[in-house]
Amino acid sequence: GCTAADLVTAIRAVADTVAEHRVELIQLDRAIGDGDHGENLDRGFKAVLTALDAATPDSPAAVLKTVATTLISKVGGAAGPLYGTAFLRASTAVKDRGELEAADVVEALTAALGGVVARGKAELGDKTMVDALDPAVKAATGDSVAAVLSAAADAAEAGAEATVPLVARKGRASYLGERSAGHMDPGARSTMLLLRAFAEVAA
Ligand code: ADP
Ligand code: MG
Ligand code: MG
Repeated sequence: GCTAADLVTAIRAVADTVAEHRVELIQLDRAIGDGDHGENLDRGFKAVLTALDAATPDSPAAVLKTVATTLISKVGGAAGPLYGTAFLRASTAVKDRGELEAADVVEALTAALGGVVARGKAELGDKTMVDALDPAVKAATGDSVAAVLSAAADAAEAGAEATVPLVARKGRASYLGERSAGHMDPGARSTMLLLRAFAEVAA
């Protein structure tokens, strides 16, 4: 299973991915938002690494909680509180587990989606991160952590691609109305990148 140390390794990979895709996420957000999504997430995950260096959490739930509280306190905009809530719900879902098995990862992903929807009230098709995370949760099955995350990342990728023609109905992009169509939603793209990074570390 996935120990606290394994999860810290995965979070480091997520932070690296966010840094690598910072400019791409800025450009996606510049097209239909205010252009800060890549910067917001990069700053947030760099702060997460600092927090994880300062204190070594001793359970997967504690790692996820550190990620959550750091993102909530350091990342502004829509995505900070939404990702923060996702990681916080995931943490609660796996509390008391010393190692995460496949079923725990499914529960964590399901709880994360529940948190994003509770906080942001977006529905499928509103052109938000929900359009990547919802299909990811539906696809998240398998006998191993790696299989669950790989299936989830594949579905998130398809979901993010499918946001391109959509008209945004939530968040800043919704101010553009019909003009938001023709661009991928930055939050759906970052959700897919996070899941892909988790899947690659687990593989
Ligand atoms: P801001 O729009 O405040 O600048 P970011 O640029 O960091 O925040 O994040 C924008 C992303 O947040 C969008 O691409 C979208 O995926 C996501 N988002 C915005 N509002 C919502 C919502 N109500 N529910 C789910 N996701 C949302
Ligand atoms: Mg923005
Ligand atoms: Mg902003």
